[in-house]
Amino acid sequence: MKTPCVAACKNNDGICGGCHRTMDEIIKWREMSSSDRDAVMNALSGIESTHQCPSCNKPAVCDISLGKETCWCFSVEKRDTSSLETHSSCLCRKCLSALPCA
Ligand SMILES: [Zn+2]
Repeated sequence: MKTPCVAACKNNDGICGGCHRTMDEIIKWREMSSSDRDAVMNALSGIESTHQCPSCNKPAVCDISLGKETCWCFSVEKRDTSSLETHSSCLCRKCLSALPCA
């Protein structure tokens, strides 16, 4: 089975510090279809993106923009985004997980 796991999995308040999957995605990984897994892998690697991260300008994905009902960030502990100047669009997984929890 394909997995983006880099054997550095660490639960960083809901998101893995190694592969940046949410704990939700890690738990459901085994039962996800291979196309669902590909979609997550493409989002992690920046192949698929909906916008640029307002913090690092790297590709970022908002699942809501992709037409889903929930976004991956809903399953992550809420972060304190007050240090950001503008918060117009979602941060990428890396930047969001680097913020302290709200
Ligand atoms: Zn970022």
